[in-house]
Amino acid sequence: MDCIFCKIISKEIPCKIVYEDETVIAFHDIAPAAPVHVVIAPKAHIPSALGIDGTNSAVVGHIYEVAVALAGTLGIAESGFRIVNNCGADGGQTVAHIHFHLLGGRKLGVMG
Ligand code: AMP
Ligand code: ZN
Repeated sequence: MDCIFCKIISKEIPCKIVYEDETVIAFHDIAPAAPVHVVIAPKAHIPSALGIDGTNSAVVGHIYEVAVALAGTLGIAESGFRIVNNCGADGGQTVAHIHFHLLGGRKLGVMG
């Protein structure tokens, strides 16, 4: 499958991994939009939020757990952060493998 995040997960494409376990991976975004910008994705290829259902939704909760833990280790828990999932063209999704952005380290603008 020609999916850039699946290639990151299989280590075909190098990146700066900050956390990894059996079901998720987290890595620094290649084009950071904030001083802290980490992408957190399930290892399973789910194309977008539209692919979340009762069989796989637990991984979303796990991703939130990982995001909050990373906010702590990356020093933005107290100052604040944002967790973002873009879905589809109007949502700004550019990689068709569901992922969540953890953003912080500066005052973020209003959404939309
Ligand atoms: P989205 O626009 O929500 O689909 O987010 C995709 C994100 O993946 C963007 O912020 C990209 O900068 C990031 N990205 C794309 N390719 C890579 C890569 N090889 N390593 C790290 N981040 C990447
Ligand atoms: Zn994928």
